[in-house]
Amino acid sequence: MLRSVILAASRSSRVERLVATAPYTRDVVRRFVAGTTPDDALRATRELVTAGLTVTLDHLGEDTVTAEQATAVREAYLELLAVLRAAGLTGSAEVSVKLSAVGQAFDEKLAYENARLICAAAAEAGTTVTLDMEDHTTTDSTLDILAKLRADHPSTGAVLQAYLRRTESDCRELAGAGSRVRLCKGAYKEPESVAYQSASDVDKSYVRCLNVLMAGDGYPMLATHDPRLIAIGQERARWYDRTPDSFEFQMLYGIRPDEQTRLASEGHTVRVYVPYGDEWYGYLMRRLAERPANVAFFARSLMSK
Ligand code: FAD
Repeated sequence: MLRSVILAASRSSRVERLVATAPYTRDVVRRFVAGTTPDDALRATRELVTAGLTVTLDHLGEDTVTAEQATAVREAYLELLAVLRAAGLTGSAEVSVKLSAVGQAFDEKLAYENARLICAAAAEAGTTVTLDMEDHTTTDSTLDILAKLRADHPSTGAVLQAYLRRTESDCRELAGAGSRVRLCKGAYKEPESVAYQSASDVDKSYVRCLNVLMAGDGYPMLATHDPRLIAIGQERARWYDRTPDSFEFQMLYGIRPDEQTRLASEGHTVRVYVPYGDEWYGYLMRRLAERPANVAFFARSLMSK
């Protein structure tokens, strides 16, 4: 119930104005977002890499409505890749891109073209791109664009969401050699017709999908903070003789940082998803929706200063 309310609020510009102007919002945002500039992103990346972690960077933004905005997002990624390259960090840091930020909602060809240029710049810099997955109305379009991008840049990664009923079958499609698939539970409010609704059904689906990916020939990226699913991932890695360079765990910036370094100290590859930029609202609301304790943390910080 609370999750539905927060996810509905994540689409409301009125609530966005309220939250953005609340006096201590910045403190809460800082817990989940690395800052606003490429230099902020670079600083966070350096800290995480020094702690033995790897990184995927997200220039915040979604639901772009004009070609100019889409171009600006593309340019922001090109700038970020140049900054990472100059700092010698492209061996440890890649980028995550939301196709809606580069024009998908109004011009799929433009989104593809922008994503293609980002993939080309990433390849030149010696790193990769993963396409984030958004709500279910975009899944087919995102997977179509992914297939086109992979023709030139086979290491382009996809995200599949275990809450969608279709995902086990998508995992089978994408479990082949050379593919990189991030498996997450899914962060949007989806109808019962397309998505499992209960936490236990989503978890069961996650395990089925994880089995398919870990048994396959691709590179699974297990994106979860859930202790049970992490343990199952470790167990399947042993079962399928996967070495630390043949799969990875992924977590979000600011969430379970001790677990991130613990897994890395055990020899696992752990990648932290680091968002930065001004457009933090939708991202923050999805993080709050995932965990009521975060709403309490937000409310406390609004009241206590
Ligand atoms: P949950 O059941 O939500 O959480 C398990 C435990 O993790 C909780 O009990 C708590 O201890 C901890 N935890 C989880 N969330 C939080 C939080 N916000 N704050 C504090 N503690 C928390 N979703 C998409 O739809 N598309 C994407 O492209 C996408 N990319 C992602 C990339 C990465 C690297 C990660 C980690 C997640 C991504 N997600 C994406 C979000 C994902 O779908 C989930 O919404 C999110 O990861 C929470 O699910 P969980 O597996 O951690 O399990």
